[in-house]
Formats: sequence, structure tokens, C-alpha cells
Amino acid sequence: MTVNYEELKRLDHTYVWHPFTQMQEWMGENPCIIDRGEGCYLYDIQGRKYIDGVSSLWCNVHGHRKKELDDALKSQIDRISHSTFLGLSHVPGIELARKLIQIAPKGLKRVFYSDNGATAVEVALKIALQYWQLRGETQRLKFASLVEAYHGDTVGAMSVGYSETFHRFHRSLLFPALRLNPPHVFRYYKRMGEKEALQSAIDEAERSLSQEKNSLAALIMEPLMQGAAGMWSQPPGYVRVLSDICRRYRILFVLDEVATGFGRTGKLFACEHEGVSPDILCLAKGMTGGYLPLAVTLTTEEIFSAFLGEYKEYKTFFHGHTYTGNPLGCAVALASLDLFGKEKIIERLQPKIHYVKARLERDFAPLPHVADVRQWGFMVGIELVEEKTTRKKYAPERRTGHKVILEARKRGVMIRPLGDIVILMPPLAIAKSELQTLLDVVYESIRIVTES
Ligand code: PLP
Repeated sequence: MTVNYEELKRLDHTYVWHPFTQMQEWMGENPCIIDRGEGCYLYDIQGRKYIDGVSSLWCNVHGHRKKELDDALKSQIDRISHSTFLGLSHVPGIELARKLIQIAPKGLKRVFYSDNGATAVEVALKIALQYWQLRGETQRLKFASLVEAYHGDTVGAMSVGYSETFHRFHRSLLFPALRLNPPHVFRYYKRMGEKEALQSAIDEAERSLSQEKNSLAALIMEPLMQGAAGMWSQPPGYVRVLSDICRRYRILFVLDEVATGFGRTGKLFACEHEGVSPDILCLAKGMTGGYLPLAVTLTTEEIFSAFLGEYKEYKTFFHGHTYTGNPLGCAVALASLDLFGKEKIIERLQPKIHYVKARLERDFAPLPHVADVRQWGFMVGIELVEEKTTRKKYAPERRTGHKVILEARKRGVMIRPLGDIVILMPPLAIAKSELQTLLDVVYESIRIVTES
């Protein structure tokens, strides 16, 4: 393997196309090349050490090279690394399905495997659409979703999570969705108070969903925190009301917990905060502790049973990916879920969540260029603006968010912003002292960049 930094940089700049990256800029910069990880730290090939402040894109839970996960993976490798789930089954796939149903929100009874968050969402949309066709309600063809949602980068996921910046070139591929304004749109853009914003969002949802009540197959949403579109938090009560409206109008209620699932919001699933259970649940990212690409779409038995029939009826759900339910992913996910129990991950997270909350309120919120801090559990967005009172944004060419992460990197912290929103999402297992360093460094980096 090549270990010379300059040679690797040349090879990267010559051959690689990185995701969500302006390659023209990338090719003018020195890339950080990761060599290994240990606990909550990443190490680059030049020996520098960084706190993994965004859990390697929001998925790491127990830290890197966690012994129990490594062991589970190694012992599965000694049996088999991959065998198809189409027309065959395997032990870790069966065991993980049972485990997921034991811990899942009430009413979810079936597990459909895929390999990433976006594919879990595609599966949910296709199941919802086919379900209504099979039930004979063939007019239920539309989907509702939230404004400033993100569900992934495949065509169906982009359709329900449309972002002008990300997806405008692909608009011709997308299907229209009924978009509902969540409370933050009323609060931040229309300048309403918290209560009024929530009520306006609820009124609008009630109106729009009732008008389309017979043509909607499903509503899909990220509960509590709309992550990748800007870390927009929803106030308590919103998810519950949308779930109730969907029940009333028999619209399937789909939750995308790809980011919020597996403890991120302080409970195993975000919907537990609201006491709701969806008809369909999408999970990925943290399911394998952040080790491997594996995703699931969970459904109720009622949905599942609509697909049953003789082969010649062609009710089958004709969907699958080569690596669907990969055994290595399943084995490591089982080991990760065991650790949630053994290491009391959720209980031990609570004081850390309170600590983050206190620091955000005390240190970050008063900063002159911080317009807003948003937090649900271990999901945090710190919004930077040029002018706090008017919420005037920085010009994009100033690359304020990017500069902050470069300052943090110099100080041993790895984070990744969403534009000028600084994101913090450390592994759930992070130690209090590491969390303190992470917050100290990010605070200093924001000050250096915004006050210069
Ligand atoms: N859904 C949500 C809520 C997400 O945050 C993401 C990714 O950030 C996705 C879906 C897409 O997941 P993936 O990147 O694994 O396709």
C-alpha cells in the first residue's frame, strides 16, 4: 500500500471524485487522508489525531475499533462475508430481524433489508404505493413530505426531500410531492413565536392533508430533527399531531429515522419522545454502530399481508439489491444492539446531552454571529450569520462554515458543516472530557472565524 502523503495526494487528485465536494477547490487543497481510528478519534496518515465530531457522517455510535464489534465481524468473516437474501436466508439476517422487532416501536412486525438510508426510503415509498394498489385504493398515488426535509440522493428520496441547491439539475426526474411547512418555517422565516409557529404548521398540515386525503399514499418525515437540510428542530407535539392526522385520513405515516435512530435524540428512536408508532420506519446509519452499510424498512403486519398471494397474482414486492441484508452488516448490527444494553448507552448519554445543552446556551448562543442553536439530544446545529438581528446570511463565497471546520481541524477536531451551519454529532460513547474538548475547540474556531 502507498503510504507517502504526496503520492497519495497526487493519486487522489488524479483519480477520485468525492461526494458532495466541489472538486475544483478540493484539487487545490491538501486532503486529509485518514489512516485509522481508535475510540472517538480519527488518525490521518501523517499521524495527526482528531476527535470524530460528526461520527463519520452521523453513524458511529460506540467509537472506532470497538472490540465487541470487531470480534463480531471477524467471526462472521470466518463463516461467510456475503450470501444473497433473494431466495435464501442466513443466520445473522434472521437474528437481527427478530432483535429489531423486539426493540422497534409498537406495531412494526416485518423487516425488509437494504443497504443505505436512501434505499430504505425508496423501499418505504414503493411499499406504500404498492400497498394501496393491492388494497384496491388505486387513487392513492401521491406523497406528502416536509419543506426542508432530506431523505437521500436517489430519485424517490430526492422527490420527497427536494432541495433547490442539491437537486435542481435533476428536477425533471422527480415526481411532485405535497410539501408541508414545518414549524421552523413559520418561526424562523415568518418570525412567529414558538406557540404560534407550531399552531400555524398544524393548521396548514390539517388543511393540506384533508384536501388530498383520498389521493395520498403516505406522509414521510424525519421526526424531531430535519438533519441534512439544516438541522431544523421540531417542537414537541408536531410529530404526534401529524401522526394523528394521518391516522384519521388513513394516510400511511412513514418515519425516516435514518439519522435520528439508534439513540441520537436521547431515546433509541425519536418517535418514542412523542409516543407514536409509524406504519413504516426507515433505519440505517447507526444500525451497525457506524461500521457497514446496512438499512432496513420496517412495516406493520397489515401492510406485509397485503402483499401475500399466489405467485401468479404477481403481488410480490419486486425490489432488492445485491448486498441486501449483508451478513457482515447484520452480525455487527447485532453486536452493536447488544452493547446498547450492556453498556447502558442511552442512560449514560443523558448527562452528556444536558452538558451540551448547558454549553450551547451559556457559550454559543450569545456569540454575535450565532443566529440560532438547535439541539435534540446528540444532534446539534449552530447557525452562523453575518447579522444576528436580521439573520442576514454570509455570502456563500466567504465559506464561513468551511473556514470554521478548518480552524477546528488545526486544533484536533474533525467536523463537517451544512453551509454555514456548524454540525456537532459525536459518537454516543464519547467521554465527557472529549466532549468538553470538542465544544471548546468549536467555540474557539467559531470566534476566530466570525470575529476576524
Ligand atoms: N434520510 C435521512 C434523514 C438522512 O439524514 C440521510 C443521510 O444523511 C438519508 C436518509 C440518506 O442516507 P444514506 O446517505 O445512507 O443514503
